[in-house]
Amino acid sequence: MISQNIQSVKEKMAKAALGVGRNPDDITLVAVSKRFPAETITEAFSSGQMYFGENYIQEVQAKRESIPELAKIHFIGHLQTNKAKVAAETCNMIETVDRLKLARALNKHLDSAEKRLDILVQVNIGKDPKKSGITENSTEDLLIELSQLPNIRVCGFMTMPPFEKEAELSRPYFRNLRLLADKMQQKGHFQETEEVELSMGMSNDYHIAIEEGATIVRVGTAIFGQRDMTPPSAQQKS
Ligand SMILES: *Cc1c(COP(=O)(O)O)cnc(C)c1O
Repeated sequence: MISQNIQSVKEKMAKAALGVGRNPDDITLVAVSKRFPAETITEAFSSGQMYFGENYIQEVQAKRESIPELAKIHFIGHLQTNKAKVAAETCNMIETVDRLKLARALNKHLDSAEKRLDILVQVNIGKDPKKSGITENSTEDLLIELSQLPNIRVCGFMTMPPFEKEAELSRPYFRNLRLLADKMQQKGHFQETEEVELSMGMSNDYHIAIEEGATIVRVGTAIFGQRDMTPPSAQQKS
C-alpha cells in the first residue's frame, strides 16, 4: 500500500515537472512520517524512499535507533532552542530555522570538523499569524547573520502557506517564495551556480508547488493515510 502510494505520488510529481519543462530528478520527495511508527518508515525505506519528515524531536529520538541508518530525516516542525543539540545530532536537515538564536544554538552544537548541517530558512510567505517563519522583509538580514555561522549551511527556503481548500489558491504563495529566492540569489546570498532549495507543497498541493519551482515537497497523508493528530506530548500526559 505505502509502496503504491509513493509510486503514484512520484508519477504525479513527474507529470507536474514535465508539464513545465523541469527534470523530475531535480525534485526530492520527503515522506512526512510524523505520528507513524518506526516500522512504517522502514517499510517505506524498503521500497526505495530515502527522505522522511518529522515534526517532533521526541519522536525523532524515539525512532532514530529503530530505522535504517541511511534513512534521512528532515525536521519540519517548530524547533525549540533547547532541543537544538538533539536536532543537530539526529536530523539530516532542519527545514524550519526561523530565528538567529536557534541557528546559533545549532551552530554551537556542531563539531565543525565532523559535520556541517544543512538548513532551510522558514519564511511565513502568507503572513499567516498561525504559522511560524520570518517575514519576507527580514529574510535578507537573517541570511547575512547566518552566513557568519560556519557549521550550518543555508540551502534555501521552506514555507507553509495559509490553508486553502483549493490547491490552486496556494500558487501565488509558492511563486512569491521562488521570487524571494531569486532575489536573494541575485543579491549574492546564494552562489550563482547553486540551486536554491525550495521546500513547498504538501499532499493537496505539491503538484502546484512543483509547477512554481519546488525542489522539495513534503507529503504525508497521500503516502501514509490519515494520522493521529494528538501531539506526542499530549499523549504522554494522558
Ligand atoms: C504534516 C506536515 C506536512 C504533510 O502534510 P500532508 O497534508 O499530510 O501531506 C508537510 N509539511 C509540514 C510542515 C507538516 O507539518
